[in-house]
Amino acid sequence: MRHLLYGAFWIGIYIVLIMTPLFVLLIGQTPPGRGFWRELSVGLGFTSLSMMGMQFFLTGRFRHITAPYGIDVIYHFHRHISIIAFLFILLHPLILLVSSPRMMTLFKPNLAPWWLTAGVAGLVAFTIIIVTSVKRIPLGIRYETWRLSHALLSVAAVAFSMAHILGVGYYMQEPLKRGLWIALAFFWIIALLYIRVVKPIIMLKHPYAVERVVEERGDTWTLVLKPDGHEGMRFQPGQFVWAKIGKSPFAIREHPFSFSSSAMREEGLEIPIKELGDFTSQIGDVAPGTRVYLDGPYGLFTVDRHKADGYVFIAAGVGITPIISILRTLADRQDRRPLLLFYSSRGWEETTFRDELKTLKERLNLQTIHILTRESPEGWEGERGRINAEMLARYLPQDRVHYEYFVCGPEPMQKAIKKQLGRLGLPLDNVQSETFNFV
Ligand SMILES: Cc1cc2nc3c(=O)[nH]c(=O)nc-3n(C[C@H](O)[C@H](O)[C@H](O)COP(=O)(O)OP(=O)(O)OC[C@H]3O[C@@H](n4cnc5c(N)ncnc54)[C@H](O)[C@@H]3O)c2cc1C
Repeated sequence: MRHLLYGAFWIGIYIVLIMTPLFVLLIGQTPPGRGFWRELSVGLGFTSLSMMGMQFFLTGRFRHITAPYGIDVIYHFHRHISIIAFLFILLHPLILLVSSPRMMTLFKPNLAPWWLTAGVAGLVAFTIIIVTSVKRIPLGIRYETWRLSHALLSVAAVAFSMAHILGVGYYMQEPLKRGLWIALAFFWIIALLYIRVVKPIIMLKHPYAVERVVEERGDTWTLVLKPDGHEGMRFQPGQFVWAKIGKSPFAIREHPFSFSSSAMREEGLEIPIKELGDFTSQIGDVAPGTRVYLDGPYGLFTVDRHKADGYVFIAAGVGITPIISILRTLADRQDRRPLLLFYSSRGWEETTFRDELKTLKERLNLQTIHILTRESPEGWEGERGRINAEMLARYLPQDRVHYEYFVCGPEPMQKAIKKQLGRLGLPLDNVQSETFNFV
């Protein structure tokens, strides 16, 4: 209930902040109306800039704002609301040009006033941002290149659009109204400064050092981290951090990884990393003593937020990581609730944490069902292939509606599992999922 109220509070704040320019510009002295279409176009322009500016807050990972929803939900919202704001931005010139075609004359290269050029530059920058975000993978843009260009273009797009609004100057006769936009811009700059300067300074004062690098099955390496000169961080089992490994806390390059260690243990944080791309494939070479900076913890993929009579975990590949943290924590808490783990791996030799799961079984009321999707050893009598409703039904208990379900794996697998759980009559409210891919 507290989280619900908290969530509603932030939604209220968001709506008020994006609508503020409209209300304030309409009070006091207003310029003469210029017809419905023109005023609508201007209103859309103001609202869309206000929405785009607020994106700096949404992606600032402010713990109080992300807590009620989970950061993945915030990122989803960020993506979807950006597209709506972008449509408003497109409608702004489109409506103006259709309703007053003579405005086209302003677009002549030598005649265009500077504020129009600024507006067009803002529009081009927003278009590049949206296209490269929605189509990053088909366009073959590396994540790091996209991330850097996204950050720089966002600032440029908002700055150009702000210059455009102030340059046009309509609805801005009173200093108070100009001041409003300037205050909003400051507000956004503060969010940016917090993300790029204040947060890194806090991280700089709370460094970690790699104590050991442990090789696991399935091309995975666990980094064991020790806090250096501070107490470390408390987290809930299943949560994750953004890690800057061997880099300055001010570096733009960072990667999200889940903890696999128990939330009850204070001695060291463990993050298992699977070799996947250019950064992770070098993780085995990280030397003990390497500095690591962590931003977190984040995420709602945790049993601590979802009380139930028992839990079912469904993991694929490295998706086992947060679940290992949950199991280790429950074992340390001597929790005796029934636990069922469906764990899908390519092959038996590649099954990460296979031996750990055997040990955990002795400390928990845990049943593990291994599913192999590619190679299985001779005489393998366990499950094979994709997880489907029939397979789940073979193991799920009668009172399964009283259980909470945690699914972690690639996005297509999550969608398929949710469908299968739905076929078994399980409400999706009982299903929590973590995706290892935000963009
Ligand atoms: C909430 C969350 C928890 C995760 N937990 C783990 C974990 O415990 N263990 C593990 O091995 N992996 C985990 N991942 C995935 C891990 O972050 C990526 O595999 C890693 O960042 C890939 O980096 P790369 O440069 O080696 O690969 P690339 O080949 O450069 O990237 C592969 C894909 O990973 C994603 N990615 C790359 N860099 C980033 C980044 N900086 N931020 C976000 N996504 C990125 C992109 O979608 C990209 O297409 C998690 C991801 C998320 C979102």
